[in-house]
Amino acid sequence: MEREIPDNNAAQALADMVRTSSRAVIFTGAGISTESGIPDFRSPTGIWTQMAPIDFRDFIASAEMRRESWRRKFASEKTISEAEPNAGHLAVATWVGRGDVSAVITQNIDGLHQRSGIADAQVVELHGNSTYASCLDCGQRYELAVIKQAFIGRDELPVCAACNGIVKTATISFGQAMPLAPMQRAEEETLAADLFIVIGSSLVVQPAASFPIIAAQNGARLVIINREPTPLDEIADLVLHEEIGPTLAAAAIASAPSLNA
Ligand code: NAD
Ligand code: ZN
Repeated sequence: MEREIPDNNAAQALADMVRTSSRAVIFTGAGISTESGIPDFRSPTGIWTQMAPIDFRDFIASAEMRRESWRRKFASEKTISEAEPNAGHLAVATWVGRGDVSAVITQNIDGLHQRSGIADAQVVELHGNSTYASCLDCGQRYELAVIKQAFIGRDELPVCAACNGIVKTATISFGQAMPLAPMQRAEEETLAADLFIVIGSSLVVQPAASFPIIAAQNGARLVIINREPTPLDEIADLVLHEEIGPTLAAAAIASAPSLNA
């Protein structure tokens, strides 16, 4: 059956690179989830234009900061819990499913890559996951619904039942140490890749943004898909200042094996 190849040079260029690579890795940022209705941080309408982030040290030092952090969490929770994967997530899942992409390294905390059908084992979460909470001391997991009930109903801040430690959403805040296992896994995947595709990241958050540099220095071809320019555009082999969903959807179709037999 003949399928229509979209008349889209950007998508075709990306498809050709995916097709000719032997091991591709995808690196995503908040930009891949804006089409699912989750605002990013640094677009003109991003979250940082409305409120400053809470630094990890302030969260630890101040009960009032912890309260503010949980207030923000529960105010924005619906946006993430009701969001569905979009065409960009689905295209990424298609490539992973075909074996074209070995892993997705993500700065996102929304869980939408997993919800699009990618196995947990192939998603490397650099900044954690905001759909649950954990104890900062012993790691015990806590569900948000229980915390919300005590916080909204009785103004109680969550404390670990096992060790009395501070409980926080399972995300990495500014000023907080990066999680060791995902960092190591991300480095291994990056070094094994011959194609590294950045999707929807301003590439200014460190150390996450160092992975594309490591990939390029290691000889991988680097692709950046982002509406706005990034500081790494000049070292990339292909830069697409395009909308993510339509571009990736077209590229996933154009790279399908049946079309290239
Ligand atoms: P960022 O906000 O710094 O940059 C996002 C980039 O995506 C921007 O440069 C923007 O131009 C681009 N973009 C947005 N929508 C796009 C679209 N539809 N098509 C093409 N480009 C688009 O995001 P970042 O680099 O990921 O860094 C932000 C930090 O914020 C990360 O650490 C992440 O943990 C966190 N964050 C996560 C989420 C989420 O999980 N969805 C949302 C907001 C912030
Ligand atoms: Zn604990």
